[in-house]
Amino acid sequence: MIDPFGRMVDYLRISVTDRCDFRCVYCMSEDMSFLPKKELLTIEELERVSGAFINLGVKKLRFTGGEPLVRKNIMKLFNGLTPYLESGQLREMTLTTNGSQLEKYSQQLADAGMRRINVSLDTLNKDKFAAITRWGKLDQVLEGLQAAKKAGLKIKINTVALRGVNDDELHTLVSWCGDEGFDITFIEVMPMGDIGNENRVDQYLPLTEVRTILGEHWTLNESDHKTGGPARYVEVKETGGKIGFITPMTHNFCESCNRVRMTCTGTLYLCLGQDDAMDLRAPLRSSDDNGPLEQAIFKAIARKPKGHDFIIDREAAPSVARHMSVTGG
Ligand code: SAM
Ligand code: SF4
Repeated sequence: MIDPFGRMVDYLRISVTDRCDFRCVYCMSEDMSFLPKKELLTIEELERVSGAFINLGVKKLRFTGGEPLVRKNIMKLFNGLTPYLESGQLREMTLTTNGSQLEKYSQQLADAGMRRINVSLDTLNKDKFAAITRWGKLDQVLEGLQAAKKAGLKIKINTVALRGVNDDELHTLVSWCGDEGFDITFIEVMPMGDIGNENRVDQYLPLTEVRTILGEHWTLNESDHKTGGPARYVEVKETGGKIGFITPMTHNFCESCNRVRMTCTGTLYLCLGQDDAMDLRAPLRSSDDNGPLEQAIFKAIARKPKGHDFIIDREAAPSVARHMSVTGG
């Protein structure tokens, strides 16, 4: 699938649920309302759509949410897609998770063919963790990470840089990741969805600043490492680990965008920062044959916009109204 700007689209992210067992302050308000369950694609439908995308050339699938591992029967979906990995039609199947369920699922994920996962963790301090996630327990995530390590999954930590919250922990996080054998990627706060009384202007810490702070302590060598995602990487000489930077705010990466995102209701978003979308649920349900679904996918790819234009501003409403937990991070 090639979009109007000549970019090959071979990466699909699927949000399998908008629900979550945490309420991170930059992501959700505490009293979030969620979609009625009947709006969601079933596990069988998610498998069918994934298969259709793979047949159209998608090589990399990432599952996200909400928290993907709180979706009922989620392993049935992953196990259903294992044959595509075994045949080589799909190069990679992976997951972004908050880590709370990893103790239970790590081995099953590895058995389904996952090789590396992203785990979101913004702090190693118990109290701060409780404050950021509102409902999460740090110990549970740390135990989950050990289970994932034991199952042989390669781990990348995703850390949202938060001013006044974890900017004093940057070195600790890099050093801990080095010890554990994890890579780490820092992310800038994006203006997505209303988050109640919290304010993203106060939370926003540009990664240019993060990089400067890290550079004062660590030897950072430019790396041409690529994972098919938007991060740019450096290698930390002292730990041998990698640090990625995802900078949607300070540095636009749209020119090399290779991905589209589908929500748990079957809405396909062509860009994380734009509202244009295509409903895939109706064509999916209209026929047992994948023809109408494939046509809708092609039509959507032909509309993929050139890029996004996020602005963080105290007065302005969020750049996009939907939450990250709807489209998936
Ligand atoms: N629940 C899973 C998790 O936390 O990894 C998967 C979904 S979560 C929406 C995916 C990623 O988006 C997480 O790394 C989270 O920190 C990040 N995220 C959520 N809201 C964000 C925002 N407004 N700006 C930047 N990153 C955000
Ligand atoms: Fe849940 Fe992930 Fe959003 Fe946190 S960032 S509330 S864990 S979906």
